[in-house]
Amino acid sequence: MKKIDDLMTISNGRLYTEKDHVKADTSGCVLCHACCLGIDGMVELNPYDVFQLRNATNLTFEALNHQHVTTIPDGKLMIPHLKTIGSDERCTFLNVDNRCDVHGFRPSTCRLFPLGRVYTDMPNDFKYFLQIGACVKPILKLIPVDKWIAIDDYEENKKFILSWYQIVKALKFRLKFEHDTQTANKLSQYFLTTFFSIDPGAEETFYDAYYRQLPEAKKTLGIL
Ligand code: SF4
Ligand code: SF4
Repeated sequence: MKKIDDLMTISNGRLYTEKDHVKADTSGCVLCHACCLGIDGMVELNPYDVFQLRNATNLTFEALNHQHVTTIPDGKLMIPHLKTIGSDERCTFLNVDNRCDVHGFRPSTCRLFPLGRVYTDMPNDFKYFLQIGACVKPILKLIPVDKWIAIDDYEENKKFILSWYQIVKALKFRLKFEHDTQTANKLSQYFLTTFFSIDPGAEETFYDAYYRQLPEAKKTLGIL
């Protein structure tokens, strides 16, 4: 999540909606895996990302957390990120042929790259920006933003991303004023086990299951 102030230094200063055309198309990244290296602490995961990785690997969140995911503190909250190995901080999903083992299920940060998201609170929304020079390819082609991201149920996913942004923000704020370490740790643990192990029922999508659990989770976490 980037602040508007940071944007001028890393972008061309333009903000894009999903229907805008942007020079982000890498034409398949042929023989390149540069952005899957040097990513230690860089790829934050949301519950949908973890759900997708669980589908791709058939691992539980707990097992993923040992092999491919690591939690990093953000204030008093532990946030899952992609784990890396080696001095070149290589993503653990990058295989021996330097291809992504979970390409169809890759996290949204990977899906967006070289785009990023910037959030606004009023209204609760986000736009996209192009990270200038982040992709090593010298020439990127124009493509509509939603076509580049190519995620199923774009509107549902966007609604979820916005909801998640507000949950994390509210919980970070709540924990800022929680001076009892035991309570803070308990809430952070609840946050991880509740949201990152979502199991939709037979007739449910991930999003259905997320919204079903949300009221109880908010009550337990003490956020609005
Ligand atoms: S999940 Fe795939 S695309 Fe994302 S950093 Fe790892 S190897 Fe690269
Ligand atoms: S640096 Fe650019 S071309 Fe290379 S893998 Fe990443 S997005 Fe593809």
